[in-house]
Amino acid sequence: MTQSKLIDVFYDPQYTLSSHHFETTRKAKWIAESLREDPIRGIRFATPEPVLVSDLLLLHSAEYISALQSGLPIELAESQGFAWDQYLLPMTLSTTGGMVAAMIAAIEVGVAGTLSTGLHHARKDSGCGFCTINGLALAAKKALTKGVQSVLILDLDAHCGGGTQDCISGDSRIYQLDISVDGFDQYKPSNNSRLVMVDDGYDYLTTVEYELENLLDEGRSFDLCIYNAGMDPFEFCTNGGKEGISMRTLARREELVFSWCRSHSIPVAFTIAGGYLGGRLDQCDLIRLHRMTVQAAAHAFLDTGI
Ligand SMILES: [Zn+2]
Repeated sequence: MTQSKLIDVFYDPQYTLSSHHFETTRKAKWIAESLREDPIRGIRFATPEPVLVSDLLLLHSAEYISALQSGLPIELAESQGFAWDQYLLPMTLSTTGGMVAAMIAAIEVGVAGTLSTGLHHARKDSGCGFCTINGLALAAKKALTKGVQSVLILDLDAHCGGGTQDCISGDSRIYQLDISVDGFDQYKPSNNSRLVMVDDGYDYLTTVEYELENLLDEGRSFDLCIYNAGMDPFEFCTNGGKEGISMRTLARREELVFSWCRSHSIPVAFTIAGGYLGGRLDQCDLIRLHRMTVQAAAHAFLDTGI
């Protein structure tokens, strides 16, 4: 792993192209604006190339991709749970391109990120839970074509990553560690996935720490981590939040993840994932939560001599 003095965070205005207006289709812009107004040292923006429609077919069924292109059948085109329009597909080509670009940059320099979101519930044949294309699984599969032997998908979003499990099923070169606090999209773990449900929010951090510490047992090794850094476990998030998981807990979680990757020399490509506005979580605090991921990446990889 070579090292860089700057960390690329991929973003393009196309990430928010869909007309349907809610956190998943808008917050990349909010975070990007915040990072421009109040930069984090060592972070620079980079513009990703969108993936091609043919890339999506490496993972998703032709029938599903056709529905995203045409809007028909509408049930399939809107299977992720929000309104289809002609901008949905270009948006997902861009956000998926961001995840792939972050993966490539991480392999090259050790760490990179993207402000993509809406990835981990998407399965091979449909969308689900605001997720249209599974950029996590697609980036993992593409990494395997670039000399990477073994990929870890670390999913710390509040909700379970059943879509990812569907997409990586049967591929022993990709392993998913999924620590969740909400049963949405729960699945039966398999040889290449581990799902840990945390019932008590006050146990969350120690569970993450324990699972990371034990992940490399039994001879397991990874040469890439794709990190789905959901902030919806936050106790004041109305969709996924769990009492006892504070901002401080999540800040510490981010430090743990990036220092674990750094200490094991595992390149890491991160993306922002869940986090929703509500009566006790305003836009300012939501941005603050997602900035913690970027901040922790910079702290782990820049304050230790690179
Ligand atoms: Zn979530």
